[in-house]
Amino acid sequence: MNYRIAFFDTKPYDETSFNQINQKFGFEIKYFKGHLNINNVALTKGFDAICIFVNAVADAEVIDELVKNGVKIIALRCAGYNNVDLNASKNRIKVVRVPAYSPYAVAEHTLALMLTLNRKTHKAYNRTREGNFALNGLMGFDMHGKTAGIIGTGKISKILIQTLRSMGLKVIAYDIFPDYAFAEKYEVEYSSLDHLYANADIISLHCPLTKDTEYIINETSIAKMKNGVMIINTGRGKLINTHALIQGLKSKKIGAAGLDVYEEESEYFFEDRSNRVMDDDILARLLSFNNVIVTSHQAFFTHEAMHNIAETTLQNIQDFIDKKTLVNEVTV
Ligand code: NAD
Repeated sequence: MNYRIAFFDTKPYDETSFNQINQKFGFEIKYFKGHLNINNVALTKGFDAICIFVNAVADAEVIDELVKNGVKIIALRCAGYNNVDLNASKNRIKVVRVPAYSPYAVAEHTLALMLTLNRKTHKAYNRTREGNFALNGLMGFDMHGKTAGIIGTGKISKILIQTLRSMGLKVIAYDIFPDYAFAEKYEVEYSSLDHLYANADIISLHCPLTKDTEYIINETSIAKMKNGVMIINTGRGKLINTHALIQGLKSKKIGAAGLDVYEEESEYFFEDRSNRVMDDDILARLLSFNNVIVTSHQAFFTHEAMHNIAETTLQNIQDFIDKKTLVNEVTV
């Protein structure tokens, strides 16, 4: 009998890439549109595996139901796994993920946010199309010679750092596991968070969301930053306390913010909500700032990344079936 996988929260582009790669594996795949939560977990009955994405809610209650329904493995088609209760899954159901699919995709999008916010190309695009060729309000700054503060120096930010260094920025970084060999090679200075906040012109977040990093950007940390700092978040929404960010933007302490993630993104991101009145006042306030760019968790979204995500996800499940070592298993 075929191995049955229930996919949640899929869009046409997911189905295209998974169907293509699945020709090699031959799994029986059923796609569900909603993201997994306690209300739709009943759909998993009779499936051997489930495949979920960033906004699924795999908490203890959902995991209990998955186990009852006979699901043996949760395959995350993303790198972050903060939405899975690993204590609840321990010794009951396997959890695998895609640790790296294209760090280039995310690093390049991060750079795109920095460059767009700085040089305001999004505004210029609209202006010139309407016959407005004025430069007022479009002035940026040379990034060359400025200081970038990078929190988390893993796969993604190492690519970003190399690019920023090649552009002539100084880089200071903070990580609980510093990579001193990398730092020496690319002349990166590891420092305390306080030193980073006090000196960085641009701060970019690349650490995972954990108990330690939740709201790492808050009222207190923002107060320590340089006036006019640019903050970029392509990590996870809850790294930033959005209320504090809004206060910082209003007081002009924060000069610009580029957000690919938002702490309450699950209601809006990945969906076309253009025909509805926005009922999230905080998101609406963020979108009202002319120095904020919000993208809809799209940093990963390249052809190459989608191909790699499908390949690794299905291979993770195949390895589980073949009782091979699960190289991408996530445990507590
Ligand atoms: P990675 O695991 O390679 O690197 C994470 C780094 O953060 C590691 O060096 C780790 O030591 C460090 N870290 C852990 N806890 C820390 C802490 N408390 N303070 C400072 N540093 C800490 O991960 P990666 O592949 O570079 O991805 C980074 C994050 O980017 C992921 O956790 C994920 O949330 C996010 N991400 C977003 C997208 C997107 O589309 N926006 C796509 C992929 C990943």
